Amino acid sequence: MRKQIVSGNWKMNLDASQSIELIEALKEKSLAADVSVAIATPAIHLESAVKQTENSAISVAAQNMHQATSGAFTGEISATMLKSIGVNTILLGHSERRAYFHETDELLAEKVNTALENELEIIFCFGEELDERKKDRHFDVVSEQLRKALFHLDASQWKHIVLAYEPVWAIGTGETASPAQAQEMHAHIRSVLAAQYDHALAQSVSVLYGGSVKPANAQEIFAQPDVDGGLIGGASLKADDFAAIVNAF
Ligand code: PEP
Repeated sequence: MRKQIVSGNWKMNLDASQSIELIEALKEKSLAADVSVAIATPAIHLESAVKQTENSAISVAAQNMHQATSGAFTGEISATMLKSIGVNTILLGHSERRAYFHETDELLAEKVNTALENELEIIFCFGEELDERKKDRHFDVVSEQLRKALFHLDASQWKHIVLAYEPVWAIGTGETASPAQAQEMHAHIRSVLAAQYDHALAQSVSVLYGGSVKPANAQEIFAQPDVDGGLIGGASLKADDFAAIVNAF
């Protein structure tokens, strides 16, 4: 059975005391025991978040890392640094990294390799833009993103990969893919994985949906057979909303 996962993506929000407060509030919530819960905090809060979530059901993820493990890359953080403070999960490929920091699938393939070499679990984000969907290119765009960034991996490495399909037009916009649109794309993703690897691998990978998931729509989206959870931006900044989403399966 595939893992059900809900991960928050705080993006560049919350100062140090707000981060501590939100984690304290989350720790007081009762969260479904069969759902893996993660929060991707800003880099500066990672170390305190790891300490604060020790002995809780919440794990901590980073939002980005450099592809090199050390060197003259001012302002960057590496996989080894993340591991050294107890971070075991990394988001890669978020559409904001792609759009504002020009991360390409080729670069992401390098980051994926570095993350795996350093035993980080990866939540790999990808998805089409609005004009690509309007031109009916969304299935091809998503297939290409997977092919370029991930299909060099051996089947055995996929146990460390979680996919997060995030249509760019639904991120932070209040616009959500309908449950049927999410299911259609998630089924497509599994068919592409099955063609490249095999049916068993395609069925084993958790595929999350991201894009304006809220307590009001989470249940319907998570009920889709190929949706294994969500990557949650805005709604992960409120303990009540995030807990309600975790408990929406
Ligand atoms: C995200 O940042 O990955 C995201 C899905 O954001 P939101 O939930 O705010 O659309």
